[in-house]
Amino acid sequence: MNSIPLVTEAQRERQLRRSNSALPELWSLLDEVTDPEIPVVSLWDLGVLQDIKKHGERLLVEITPTYSGCPAMVEMASEIEKTLTAAGHTNVEVVSLLTPTWTTDFMSAQGRDKLREYGIAPPSPRGQGDKVCCPQCGSANSELISEFGSTACKALYRCLDCLEPFDYFKCI
Ligand SMILES: [Zn+2]
Repeated sequence: MNSIPLVTEAQRERQLRRSNSALPELWSLLDEVTDPEIPVVSLWDLGVLQDIKKHGERLLVEITPTYSGCPAMVEMASEIEKTLTAAGHTNVEVVSLLTPTWTTDFMSAQGRDKLREYGIAPPSPRGQGDKVCCPQCGSANSELISEFGSTACKALYRCLDCLEPFDYFKCI
């Protein structure tokens, strides 16, 4: 099975913001907030959570929406607020950043591994070819069945070796 050790530039920048943050405990807290559609992947892993800042008494949480119009985004923002409020931070604002736009390159290496373990083929980093590997057996011998899988962000594939159908998280 080929893993993806590569760290993209976008990931590196996010990791730096997190490492340099004065609020490390809040980042850890928000690691509990996951994608409502893929509960094993946190908003951090997904590349949605960008920054946590303090402006006076107010906490600003910056997120980048994934696919525009994705209904899960509203749910994610409200989960962030709920999680911070439960920890005693009541003055919270979730800000959506529209540039740079989200791409699957924001997704962390751990996020890709978790997707694969969950049975969803992770997006390949751009420039790494468009081979879609079966998350069950790792074979690159797969065929597209439908451009739309269980949700619009995924496509349905079938492995030609183990014959299992699987979702592929589309690369954008
Ligand atoms: Zn397979």
